[in-house]
Amino acid sequence: MKLHDYEEILGKERIHSIKNLASKLEGKTIQHINSTAAGGGVAEILKRLVPLMEDVGLRVIWDVMEGTPEFFRVTKVFHNAFHGQQVEVTQEMMDLYRRVNRRNQDIIRQDADFVILHDQQPLGLTEVRSGHSGTWIWYCHIDPVDCDPRVWNFLRPMVTWCDASVYHLPEYVKDADKRHYIMPPAIDPLAEKNRDLTDQEIESVFDRLGIPRDLPLLMQVSRFDWLKDPIGVVGAFHLVRQEIPCRLVLAGGGASDDPEGVQVLEAVLREAADDPDIFIRELPSGSDLEINALQRAAAIIIQKSVREGFGLTVTEGLWKGRPLVASPVGGIKTQVLQEETGLQAQAVEEVASAAVRLLNDPKLADRLGTAGKEHVRDNFILPVYLERWLEMLINETQV
Ligand code: UDP
Repeated sequence: MKLHDYEEILGKERIHSIKNLASKLEGKTIQHINSTAAGGGVAEILKRLVPLMEDVGLRVIWDVMEGTPEFFRVTKVFHNAFHGQQVEVTQEMMDLYRRVNRRNQDIIRQDADFVILHDQQPLGLTEVRSGHSGTWIWYCHIDPVDCDPRVWNFLRPMVTWCDASVYHLPEYVKDADKRHYIMPPAIDPLAEKNRDLTDQEIESVFDRLGIPRDLPLLMQVSRFDWLKDPIGVVGAFHLVRQEIPCRLVLAGGGASDDPEGVQVLEAVLREAADDPDIFIRELPSGSDLEINALQRAAAIIIQKSVREGFGLTVTEGLWKGRPLVASPVGGIKTQVLQEETGLQAQAVEEVASAAVRLLNDPKLADRLGTAGKEHVRDNFILPVYLERWLEMLINETQV
């Protein structure tokens, strides 16, 4: 992808101004370091961001640190700790984390003007930073607020050895006394999951999935996870249907390789109890076209999460111009602005009454959907994300 491919979406002028911004960084080298080349949100975003950064004249190097299974077991424990789980951290684990990071020290490019450490796995590289003349930035892609102090206290000095940190949301900032930036993630409007679809393409997905479209569809596309509260969505649907004929689609993957996912899916199937108006579909990974079509055909998109990092399914839904009913948690709060780009609702009854309101008021649904798409265009699409990166890097060259 090239930056000018986004001209139609963002306008020639804005693209031009992004290119101008980038010219201030011409010839600079930026090195991204993370721990996986595929799978996971960071790899997904880097795959799309790196070519755009190169396209605007930066020299970009993306390196993946090498770990061992034991190392990844330790960093998984750290990951769970970030999510607030109480974890057991031993001296051995901390030593192993340090050792593996030190073993990776040769990946650090001495000529890099910026070294970006993504998430916590490569943070240990800061221990071998000495003498490096570039700017080091830690990008925290998850919500660290409730991080178990045993893990945070271990990692904190490494965060401090970076020049600045980046978080998705202002409320996630963990080291407020240090220089930090807020950069929420973004979706790529040209990706298969988000590109415009023809009616025929949408129709054929619905045929394949065996979902009729003769009644309005309430839709939640999400992994089958308790934190996405699919059972609550079924409850809300039952209330809505008492007032307006409609159907519910719950679609998502992650059930086959995640033992908890299987339990959640089974519980949802029990809750749905063969209701002919509820369509539960397991999506294999890579179902981008299917997700795109489902979101586009929804009368209302629901995201009844109990907790959410940023909530990319919400971004995707808004981009498709659909009205959203979503719980105001995590990054959803910055996306679904009450009565402006969607309706916020948390309890089952609230979700149901918001959905009824939207089904009864197509003008409101249209207005929110249109504003939602513009909100995403202004804030959460890839070229805008690139612009935020450039602004941060330029600022870092000036401090
Ligand atoms: N997703 C997917 N297949 C699924 C369910 C979700 O590809 O079966 C995608 C979804 O389109 C979104 C991402 O996975 O791009 C989920 O990100 P989000 O921030 O919404 O939630 P998370 O799953 O990270 O908690």
